[in-house]
This record gives sequence, C-alpha cells and structure tokens, in this order.
Amino acid sequence: MNDPIPWNGGGLLDEVRRRSGTEPGACFQCHKCSTGCPAGPDMDFLPSQVLRLIHLGAEEEALGSRAIWLCASCEACTARCPMEIDVAGVMDALRIMAVDRRTALPDARGKRFNRCFLGSVRRHGRVYEMGMMAAYKLSTFDLFTDVGKVPRMLAQGKLAILPNRSGGVGQVREIFRRAEEEE
Ligand code: SF4
Ligand code: SF4
Repeated sequence: MNDPIPWNGGGLLDEVRRRSGTEPGACFQCHKCSTGCPAGPDMDFLPSQVLRLIHLGAEEEALGSRAIWLCASCEACTARCPMEIDVAGVMDALRIMAVDRRTALPDARGKRFNRCFLGSVRRHGRVYEMGMMAAYKLSTFDLFTDVGKVPRMLAQGKLAILPNRSGGVGQVREIFRRAEEEE
C-alpha cells in the first residue's frame, strides 16, 4: 500500500481506517473518484470531498451527509483511485458509523432504500431489483417517480420480472445472522 499522507483527521480518520480496512489518509484529492461517480450529481459532497471531510475530522458533516446514503456501492470510485483507496468501503464505513451514532439523516429515503436493498439481498442471496424497488416505493408512497423508465429497462434486460435466487442464499443469510449477533 502507498504511504499515507499524515492528515490530521484524528479520531475520525483512525476510525474510518479501522472500519473500512483502507487508508483514507493517502488521498491527494485528484477527484478521479468523483468524476466517475454515477450518484455524484445528486450528492451534497462528492466522494473526494467526503475524503477531505475525513481528513479534516469533520465528523458531523461526513456522517450527516446525503452522499453516504446515495452511494450505490458500485465501486467505480475504488476502481479509479490511483492510491488504491477503497472509497466505496469508506462510504460503507461512514454509513455504519452514522447508524451506530444514531446520526440524524438528511433524508429518510436513503435509509429506507438501504433497508429494502439489504432485505432483498437477504431473501434472495442477491438483489432482486424489481421487488426491491416495489418495496421501496410502497415504503415512501412515492409510487410514480421514475416509473416511466421501467419499460426501457425491461427491454434492455436491466430488470428481471421474477427473482433469480442465488445458490448461496443460505450462506448470505448466515452472514446477516452473524452480523445481527455481533450488533
Ligand atoms: S461506490 Fe458510491 S461513491 Fe463510489 S462511485 Fe459508486 S456510487 Fe459513487
Ligand atoms: S481517486 Fe483516490 S486519491 Fe483521488 S480524490 Fe478520490 S480517493 Fe482521493
């Protein structure tokens, strides 16, 4: 791993490093993660800015940001980072920290989306997008936003009507069970 720059994020930097298993201090603000982030246009802080908040020890801003809940864990940022920082892992770590500290969410929809996503993975061993989106829409009463995109996504094979259960669903459920035990 590359040598970290000695940023002064103190406790926040140390905790994110420990929880994510990567070195956020190595970030030199090239912004490659941000330019490749599909959720970037809707974020209040771009991924590189979230890294900067960590360097500055700005815990309230980092854990209270919309960005960590809009992150889709696509890992494009991780793949693009020249310093081999697992930026997606950093976003994961910040979400977990926000939940642990009961940080007030800027937008409750992010947490609902996260719950529906994880519920789908737990049930099927992988995400079943159609079912997950139905659960999310029902939980927010926002039934019609984006509905016009569904036919095109179906036509392009981006959405399946029926779930395709993973052969490893038992192992996935075991992971959830252990995580709950640890909590
Ligand atoms: S993992 Fe999250 S932060 Fe990284 S590129 Fe994807 S959406 Fe953006
Ligand atoms: S790509 Fe890596 S080094 Fe560049 S800003 Fe993002 S986290 Fe920092």
